[in-house]
Amino acid sequence: MDFSWTDEQRDFRSQVRSFIDEHWRGGASEAESRYERVQAYQKRLAEHGWLTMAWPPAYGGRGATHFEQLIFAEESAHASAPTGGQGADRVGPTLIIHGTEEQKQEHLPKIANAEVNWCQGYSEPGSGSDLASLQTRAVRDGDDFVINGQKIWTSGAQNADWIHVLTRTDPDAPKHRGISYFMLRMDTPGISLRPIVQLHDAAGFNETFFEDVRVPAKNMIGEENRGWYVSTTTLDFERSGIHRIAAANPPYQRLLRHAQQPDSAGEGRRVVDNPVHRLSLGDTATEVAIGELLGYRVTWMQSRGLVPNMESSMSKMFGSETQQRLARRGVNMLGLAGQLRPGNERAPLGGEFASYYMSSVSLTIAAGTSEIQRNIIATRGLGLPRG
Ligand SMILES: Cc1cc2nc3c(=O)[nH]c(=O)nc-3n(C[C@H](O)[C@H](O)[C@H](O)COP(=O)(O)OP(=O)(O)OC[C@H]3O[C@@H](n4cnc5c(N)ncnc54)[C@H](O)[C@@H]3O)c2cc1C
Repeated sequence: MDFSWTDEQRDFRSQVRSFIDEHWRGGASEAESRYERVQAYQKRLAEHGWLTMAWPPAYGGRGATHFEQLIFAEESAHASAPTGGQGADRVGPTLIIHGTEEQKQEHLPKIANAEVNWCQGYSEPGSGSDLASLQTRAVRDGDDFVINGQKIWTSGAQNADWIHVLTRTDPDAPKHRGISYFMLRMDTPGISLRPIVQLHDAAGFNETFFEDVRVPAKNMIGEENRGWYVSTTTLDFERSGIHRIAAANPPYQRLLRHAQQPDSAGEGRRVVDNPVHRLSLGDTATEVAIGELLGYRVTWMQSRGLVPNMESSMSKMFGSETQQRLARRGVNMLGLAGQLRPGNERAPLGGEFASYYMSSVSLTIAAGTSEIQRNIIATRGLGLPRG
């Protein structure tokens, strides 16, 4: 077992850092919204061949190794810089495995060139964890299918050009065997959105409604009624990845630095003078290190042609829960002022931890809840009984 990086991997990491410094940290313009900034940066990534670096060259990738992709994702998360988005990270890889040649030729170059945004129409008001119970109907009509139903929690639908959607095509079959998977343009007549405004006033989620929406049958990914098995590939891509645990590192490092500085309002005391907080920081250091190793194991398996399943769930669950524990510990360490939000001049660390505490709640829900990940580990991983 060798835990060290090769010289080439170290070189690649410094190239990624320089790129991020120049184009993400240094490339911001005051006039741009976050969305515009992400779009512009993704264009730069595409020009550099890094948006879809691990794809085969025939489809717009560089055939990069799994570990190069991991290094890129890790450095991006350390800098809070965006990577590929849904097209590059989920839809494209799914099409490479399950798409027809025509679908690949149509969609992959546009994704690789950062020309299109995708959103994901899986969850419904009555089907989240039990996704296979979904009710949105697609009925064959000539060369088309006609879709009626509703999706919910569709992240980024307001800016998306395309949506990948799970529908029920055979209501009489057992629930996993009557599902088909489609790609639709968001401007198709009959699709409408209603934004879901969150507690902090942002509206990144949507309800998505389908009323007699026609989609050509050629836009189906995989076979009719076998869409569930294609969607598990998409979910595996969504759940695996080093970014969740890597995203814990920057707030952890900032908290660690802050905790060692004398507090001017507190007679020079430091957070680390409190033994409880000291131990908490030790716990977080350990958890971040374990989380990294779980993420590296997923990548190592992929690099050997193995298919991580329980291992992706472990990494996803542990990464999300480590972030939540860090956010909770940070708010506790920073005392009452730790609850102050960004914009308040008395907020320690610019109010970062108050925001982090709230936003981290969703981490153990998105991409499958922690309970669902534990179920996968217990049943598919350990072979324990279902139900
Ligand atoms: C930030 C974020 C972004 C999202 N983006 C999208 C998106 O773009 N597209 C999309 O389609 N969806 C999206 N979702 C939805 C997400 O996939 C669902 O919220 C998630 O699958 C849980 O479903 P639910 O909310 O219906 O909760 P439910 O399934 O109703 O679960 C409620 C609670 O019951 C528990 N539970 C349910 N079943 C079991 C079981 N068998 N064993 C033990 N416990 C169980 C759950 O763990 C949870 O605690 C997003 C969610 C979040 C938070």
